[in-house]
Amino acid sequence: MNTTCRGFDTKLIHAGEPLPRIQGAVTVPIFQSATFEQTGDTNDPVLFYIRLNNTPNHQALHQKLAALENAESALVTASGMAAISTTLLTVLSSGDHLLAQEGLYGGTHGLLTDECPAFGLKVDWIDAGNPGSWEEKVRPATRAIYVETMTNPLLQVADLPAVVEFARAHQLVSIIDNTFATPVNFRPPEIGFDLSLHSCTKYMNGHDDLAAGAIIGRSKWIERITRRLNRLGGSLDPHAVFLLDRGLKTLGVRVRQQNESAMRIARFLEDHPAVARVNYPGLESHPQHSRARKLFEGFGGTLSFDLVGGAAAADRLAASARLAISAPSLGGVDTLIMRPAVVSHRNLTRQERERIGIGDGLVRFSVGLETPDDLINDLEQALRA
Ligand SMILES: *Cc1c(COP(=O)(O)O)cnc(C)c1O
Repeated sequence: MNTTCRGFDTKLIHAGEPLPRIQGAVTVPIFQSATFEQTGDTNDPVLFYIRLNNTPNHQALHQKLAALENAESALVTASGMAAISTTLLTVLSSGDHLLAQEGLYGGTHGLLTDECPAFGLKVDWIDAGNPGSWEEKVRPATRAIYVETMTNPLLQVADLPAVVEFARAHQLVSIIDNTFATPVNFRPPEIGFDLSLHSCTKYMNGHDDLAAGAIIGRSKWIERITRRLNRLGGSLDPHAVFLLDRGLKTLGVRVRQQNESAMRIARFLEDHPAVARVNYPGLESHPQHSRARKLFEGFGGTLSFDLVGGAAAADRLAASARLAISAPSLGGVDTLIMRPAVVSHRNLTRQERERIGIGDGLVRFSVGLETPDDLINDLEQALRA
């Protein structure tokens, strides 16, 4: 990499770019070609083909993604779920056992419970807040441990250095879904995680206009995962690679602004009489606030809160908000509001939801890039409604 490319925001703009510039183009052009003419050694041909994740757009973006988390290598995928499934199907083989944090993202939870058994993979759930309880779940077949930087939608923060230490002690592959933090706020390879996964559909692209995923970490694993992705086929199209690279260039300014706006909104909500509780790791009232302060450079742009008036109040709020759009997903420039009990966690029974702290009056709020005062005024009028 260019040695002038050290600071995080400089990497966002320049890391991985081909030099000399292709035809002088300041932006890496889109190589919308499914296949490429073979010119090299015919005894050992390297095939360049979109599904093999090696167009110039893929190569540039892989280098940039690795640089952002100070990792060895990276790979983009067709979605966050393609990153997660391809990683698990590479790290684990039939008969293997995985330790996974309770309360994972719904798609991941579904993959582990509904799909993995067909591949002969076994899962045990761990309480990430209680490292002392992990040991008894380890079996001879345990190969990996899987956690999230912050859980959705309660934003709980596990003892992440303890996860790395535990993985090392038991020779497990440590895997973390870093979607909510982004490399702006946290870079898992720096504290020793083997693999850091992202749904780039969220903050990384940041514009709610594409689906993509990323796997960042040790070369040894990225090479194996690339071979599997090449066969499983969840490769990202070059046009989407271009859009993701374009979105990434503003990741730093976007996420720092979202950190700041979310902090202000969390404080506003915490003081509001219609709000029973706010879940945001930046608040002193958050149970893992001091851990989050130590680990993260910022607390992210997503928060959740419980309304005193329960489900009816939550529905009224979502219906009365004029700026915040009622939609799933998060991390984009548009502020989105969502009720986990009826969207992301609707497949759980009410008792299961209550047990993990997701009440009917819980609202998740993904802070966009609108003027923070406008968002606060909008929430204020919607909470009055
Ligand atoms: C959205 C999301 C995913 C899945 O990503 P897709 O791009 O929708 O496939 C995985 N993990 C987390 C934490 C997410 O928010």
